[in-house]
Amino acid sequence: RDEQISTIKAAIEEKNIRFIVLQLTDIMGASKSIILPVSQIEKILSNETMFDGSSIDGFARIEESDMYLYPDLSTFLVLPWKACNGYSIARIICDVYSPNEEPFEGCPRQVLRKALEEAKGMGYEFYVGPEPEFYIFDRDEKGNAILENNDKAGYFDMAPLDKGEEVREHISLALEEAGFEVEAAHHECGPGQHEIDFKYADALSTADNIMTFKYIVRKIADDLGLFASFMPKPVEGIAGSGMHLNMSLFKDGKNIFFDPDAKNSLSDEAVHFIGGLLKHSKAITAVTNPIVNSYKRLVPGYEAPVYIAWSHKNRSPLVRVPAKRGTSTRVELRSPDPACNPYLALAVVLKAGLDGIKNKIEPPKSIAGNIYDMDLEERLEKSIDSLPISLYEAIEELAKSDTVKGALGKHVTEKFISAKLDEWDSYRKAVHSWEIEEYLKAH
Ligand code: ADP
Ligand code: MG
Ligand code: MG
Ligand code: MG
Ligand code: MG
Repeated sequence: RDEQISTIKAAIEEKNIRFIVLQLTDIMGASKSIILPVSQIEKILSNETMFDGSSIDGFARIEESDMYLYPDLSTFLVLPWKACNGYSIARIICDVYSPNEEPFEGCPRQVLRKALEEAKGMGYEFYVGPEPEFYIFDRDEKGNAILENNDKAGYFDMAPLDKGEEVREHISLALEEAGFEVEAAHHECGPGQHEIDFKYADALSTADNIMTFKYIVRKIADDLGLFASFMPKPVEGIAGSGMHLNMSLFKDGKNIFFDPDAKNSLSDEAVHFIGGLLKHSKAITAVTNPIVNSYKRLVPGYEAPVYIAWSHKNRSPLVRVPAKRGTSTRVELRSPDPACNPYLALAVVLKAGLDGIKNKIEPPKSIAGNIYDMDLEERLEKSIDSLPISLYEAIEELAKSDTVKGALGKHVTEKFISAKLDEWDSYRKAVHSWEIEEYLKAH
């Protein structure tokens, strides 16, 4: 820690840092921050920065409103842009603590830490690589985001058809400057839709990285006069934005999902991890796909999963095992979208997978064919069930699942369910343009 502190202090001098952004994520997955001038660095480093937890949606009650930010010094980052007058800004991600110096149970980072501790107790390190997708839209004269862009390209297209290429370059450079190892950046299926993949890491770093990634993508798009959105389905009729999660467990530095002697070179742990994921998939969905709009993406016809099944090659099921073996052996969960709170999402998928390993849950047989081509009868015959079709259904599943509720803990479960039921209620009461179109003249 002393070493980290001296590195930070040296960077403050060298890089001309004038502001420190203390960043945290609320239960709903929104990024929150407090910006302090660098003169407050001693207070920051001695965990004395206070904030009012009750002012953050769904975070804490009035009675426990005094919260403390404990900066995780390993997340210190000089942001890849400048403040006013050319000064630099640094960012540190924080854990939230209560006044009695206990980690706050409503802090999403704490929820993930707990799940990781359980994995560690079993000898496992959990590694995750996400594939976040997003749209880049234009702004109107007033600067408001509009659902348009001058991009007519599709999957893997190249410039000049791909107008987003330049934007992606700017974003990739900023990400690299911020220490990301960008593995690939490509145009996605939708016009204006992109995917940038960065290297997998331990789950806590990956959840932090996802929050940093969204921050950087939004900021760079904004600087270019554009607007980046991670909304799961911004435009009807074209591909939604997902965030596949690639997962593996390591033991003593080795990927234990890989077993050269086993069937398909997949270890029992990998197979049982899949069994756990599939078993709990309905309840997990509430967390990995947490907004009303998430369910507009989980429909047939767009490569987003709908059915609860797994496959070695096909991209239609919920879980895919990519062909790569050795260190890259991984399980890909294809349902999550970038609206999720990554800390909570990684905690629940890990706990589901660990449950599979502990209880040796065998997944159903893997599916080779395209499930979208099967009719209902064939799916029933193969016992292929579907993911929840609405936020409400997903919340009902969550409320029934001790595994997922246990992963979130009592505090987060209560706050999450009540906020999501409010969200559903507000949606339920709204009269949508689809209804006007269908019914106004017909009735
Ligand atoms: P896809 O074939 O689904 O498009 P991508 O190549 O876009 O996959 O993304 C693969 C992701 O998986 C990257 O983030 C990569 O770092 C990650 N990954 C590779 N090996 C592992 C592993 N052993 N555990 C977890 N993630 C991994
Ligand atoms: Mg990909
Ligand atoms: Mg790729
Ligand atoms: Mg993709
Ligand atoms: Mg993928």
